[in-house]
Amino acid sequence: MIGVVVLGSTGSVGESTLDVLARNPDRFRLVALGANRNAARLAEQVRRWRPAYAALADERAARELTQLLGGSVPETRLLVGESALSEIASLPEADSVMAAIVGAAGLRSTLAAARAGKRLLLANKESLVMSGPLLMEAVRVSGATLLPIDSEHNAIFQCLPPHARAGEPPPGVRRVLLTASGGPFRESSREALEAVTPEAACAHPNWVMGRKISVDSATLMNKGLELIEACFLFGLRPGQIEILVHPQSIVHSLVEYLDGSVLAQLGSPDMRTPIAQALGWPDRIPSGVEFLDLIRTGRLDFQAPDADRFRCLALAQAAARAGGLLPVVLNAANEVAVQAFLERRLNFLEIAAVIEAVITTTTGTGAIGSLDDVLAADAEARRLAHERVAGNPAARGHAAGGVHA
Ligand code: NDP
Repeated sequence: MIGVVVLGSTGSVGESTLDVLARNPDRFRLVALGANRNAARLAEQVRRWRPAYAALADERAARELTQLLGGSVPETRLLVGESALSEIASLPEADSVMAAIVGAAGLRSTLAAARAGKRLLLANKESLVMSGPLLMEAVRVSGATLLPIDSEHNAIFQCLPPHARAGEPPPGVRRVLLTASGGPFRESSREALEAVTPEAACAHPNWVMGRKISVDSATLMNKGLELIEACFLFGLRPGQIEILVHPQSIVHSLVEYLDGSVLAQLGSPDMRTPIAQALGWPDRIPSGVEFLDLIRTGRLDFQAPDADRFRCLALAQAAARAGGLLPVVLNAANEVAVQAFLERRLNFLEIAAVIEAVITTTTGTGAIGSLDDVLAADAEARRLAHERVAGNPAARGHAAGGVHA
């Protein structure tokens, strides 16, 4: 039995992971669950799974969880605080750790799993964007196995030669074609983008996801973060990664070889496929996804992305080329701007404006020497982004009770 820890268990990827585990009860044993503050959902999961540990980062929510359970699941030890997430990520009884916390909040626990030599199932792309050199080094030193969960990276992983090594240029590969759905506003004009609401941005045409990644998909920042992620995971240069808009989200990415062969991975747009692939690897296990019906799909379209309308993509591409701390700054500014957009303190196009302003004023432009460098650049970028958001007309309207749609 493979011991599994699910970090971010109350989220979209976390719940899909539990669904795959439930379909393969003879293979996996759930050891621990971790989340932030959704005590009610975590209580349901604890009652259903009875893991050895359950952790919440938020202290008030952890007290609520204790009350909700009322001693009814004595075999589960309840832990609290951010450090508890790192603790469950490195438990000796854990073989595989699903890192599915959203944003920079997942950085420390993801690093902890890598340092502990686990099989690390990486959904939390932000941790790799922020600390790529540190995370890849931790994987190398500890002998951890890094398996990508992002559907595109999981597709690339499946199309690479079996002897490719994490973080090293894969032999015989010319370039990678990273597909993007284009999000809900693929065809929208600039004027229409001005008026986009959080509800519309979170209604992705093909994927059901958490709110932050849904907005990232709508701005194409998600593809930019994925480009940076792919560079670290597969030892590629940014120039070796072409982004291809593919509205049907059936081809999850492609690898082009020196001999002209192009290998692709296809499947229904359902995260349970990459999750099952990584949980079972190198075996294949059932995932519960709807099997692909190419006749019903009918056509597969591809087009170039529009980096003029979707500035976030251009900003991320520039940060990928610059490297060092700039991806940290990009990620932090994006997290603050997306949150402000979700709270209607910023309009959709201003997300890119905030990130650009932070990138041009940050002092975090050097190389990554240590985790402290990363945390300092992250903190400064967040402060600059908050200042920029606060100076925004929509934010002032919000403070005065106005609502910006
Ligand atoms: P969700 O918003 O659905 O879930 C986020 C999870 O993270 C929740 O369990 C939440 O806990 C937890 N969390 C948030 N903040 C903290 C914190 N400070 N400390 C501890 N836990 C925290 O996100 P998704 O599942 O959509 O995405 C998770 C990650 O996977 C992201 O990095 C995303 O980019 C990546 N990903 C997601 C895909 C998808 O299809 N959803 C596809 C590919 C990648 P709580 O509920 O208690 O707040």
